[in-house]
Amino acid sequence: MNDATQEIVHFELVQVTEASSSVAMELTGFQRGLDHLQTQGVNVGVVTTDRSPSIRKTMRETYCDIRHEFDVWHVNKSVKKKLVNAANKKENQDLQTWLKSISNHLYWSCSSSHGDGEECVRRWKSLLHHIVGIHRWEEDGEQHTCHHAPLTDDEQRRKRWMKVDSPAYKSLKSIVLDKNLLRDLKQMAVFKHTGEYVITGS
Ligand SMILES: [Zn+2]
Repeated sequence: MNDATQEIVHFELVQVTEASSSVAMELTGFQRGLDHLQTQGVNVGVVTTDRSPSIRKTMRETYCDIRHEFDVWHVNKSVKKKLVNAANKKENQDLQTWLKSISNHLYWSCSSSHGDGEECVRRWKSLLHHIVGIHRWEEDGEQHTCHHAPLTDDEQRRKRWMKVDSPAYKSLKSIVLDKNLLRDLKQMAVFKHTGEYVITGS
């Protein structure tokens, strides 16, 4: 799909007999499709896929001049699943009220980083400060602040901030700082999707 026009510009059919597994079929179809577009003179700048290991490897090795991005919706779905599982544990109940905000924050981190992968990671990690009620902090010798408007004293008092030493916060921290997630976020700062994405504002 051409992201700019949301039009399907090409598709490939792969026969079961042509590949050893469904994973291999996906890769074969992907490569044929991409090669076809390039042969036709289409200048492909960015390709967005899910996080399939074989496609990831092929993009890195064979198409290293094309920027490879991961679909934000897919990644959010997997992060959300981990968070819900954690929040369902009795000791992590405090996490429940934050689930929607954390998802929104992931989308915001990707959509507001203007293609800068490091900035995307930094914005995502800032959640660990905000969620305990800290909106200004120091990291690697630099001052950082949240990007939201300053909270009123009343807002700051009323919000149910998490406690740094609570099991819920520790669980959250391990999910937020997961090294695979941080690595993948660097490839999500162009804010692309594999399907039609409509911003609903919700
Ligand atoms: Zn904040």
